[in-house]
Amino acid sequence: MTSTIFQKIINRELNAEIVYEDDDCLAFKDVNPQAPVHILLIPKESIKNISNVNLSHQKILGHLMVKIPEIAKKTSMSDDFRVVINNGSKACQTIFHLHLHILGGRKFTWPPG
Ligand code: 5GP
Repeated sequence: MTSTIFQKIINRELNAEIVYEDDDCLAFKDVNPQAPVHILLIPKESIKNISNVNLSHQKILGHLMVKIPEIAKKTSMSDDFRVVINNGSKACQTIFHLHLHILGGRKFTWPPG
């Protein structure tokens, strides 16, 4: 199985601007930011996307959610930010290792387009 870009970042085979790391997850700056602050939060465990989760992933999914406000605070976002998961290619998922986009530092509109 070929390694995704995010697996390479976890393995330190590719550089990224890491803003948070623990045993279970990694957060780093998106290389092509869509907002003044754009962080990608990923589990270290390889999960393709939300369509591929089951009850065994409850703990890591909860862990990612709980880490969002800490990472937002650490990267100088206010309490106003957007969290996005693109799931599947029609929803613009391009890297098939689950990731949460955390975007902040500007006003957002809805619907997102
Ligand atoms: P997706 O479209 O799959 O939801 O999001 C993938 C994200 O990964 C995109 O926002 C893209 O800019 C970002 N990305 C792609 N390649 C790299 C990379 O090598 N380094 C970093 N930091 N981000 C990347």
